[in-house]
Amino acid sequence: MVVLIWLRGLVVAMVLLGLPAGAGGSDRPAVVVDPGHGGPHPGAVGVASRRPEAQNVLAIGLYLRDLLEEAGYRVVLTRSGDYLPTAPGHPDQLDARVAIAREAAADIFVSLHNNAYPRDPSVRGNMVFHRTACPDSRELARTLAEALRQVTGQPDRGVHPAGFRVLRLNPLPAAVLVEIGFLTSAADDWLLGTDAYRRQVAVALHRGIERYLGGIPAVSEPPEADSTAIARAILKTPPEPRKIPEPRRLEIGGRILVNARDLARLDREMILSLEGKLLLVPDGGPIPAVMVDGEVYVLAALLEQRLPLP
Ligand SMILES: [Zn+2]
Repeated sequence: MVVLIWLRGLVVAMVLLGLPAGAGGSDRPAVVVDPGHGGPHPGAVGVASRRPEAQNVLAIGLYLRDLLEEAGYRVVLTRSGDYLPTAPGHPDQLDARVAIAREAAADIFVSLHNNAYPRDPSVRGNMVFHRTACPDSRELARTLAEALRQVTGQPDRGVHPAGFRVLRLNPLPAAVLVEIGFLTSAADDWLLGTDAYRRQVAVALHRGIERYLGGIPAVSEPPEADSTAIARAILKTPPEPRKIPEPRRLEIGGRILVNARDLARLDREMILSLEGKLLLVPDGGPIPAVMVDGEVYVLAALLEQRLPLP
């Protein structure tokens, strides 16, 4: 029996053996479910519905929580409503998500997102990102991708390494980020708005988590042919260096302003949106913005605190 213990199945195995489990001081395996975005940071927006990513992934996350809890797991949600997660001493929402994971001392961290690929609205399907050079994370990603393919029947765009902050800084080895559908696809946008599909995705993720913790290795299948190229484009790690245009700058009253739309073209991580006069930046929360000649500008000094400028 003992030889069957896999590191990632440790808690399950210990429960079977009647031993006290270590992780989280609980006798149940624990999962952190992290619905991305929220509140002032809606994420990507459905091409047809205009429904934000934050809303889709929260609904899926709540279904997943219910399924996991019914199956006896301890579940920690990073958010359970339309707001950005917070944690004491971590003003940044991404750091807060990582802090919640650390506090939870869970076995698995699953971040939920919807993808966007504006250059080709026909691109659809699911993609799972794992930590670079981390076998636990990669295996969980493969297991979830397989379960998503089997349960939803939607295109499988494979598993890919990524340096997203919630993965890179995560204290849990088995941390993944699942991109469910592309909101730039009208078909995926529609699917993600239906309760039936949201439940189906939660069922798939639950199945994948069970298989992973049970030590059932994923059977690899080749992803859609163009998926690696799409993942590269999404992660902005193309094989050739990109030509990045300098963002337009203005000087007004001795203060330097930077053009927001030019900045948005630099990096997907920096996709930003405007709500009133607040510029929403994924890593940094809202930044006051001003309109100059019909263009949106932000104070360089404010921006530099949050984002590395070229
Ligand atoms: Zn997202």
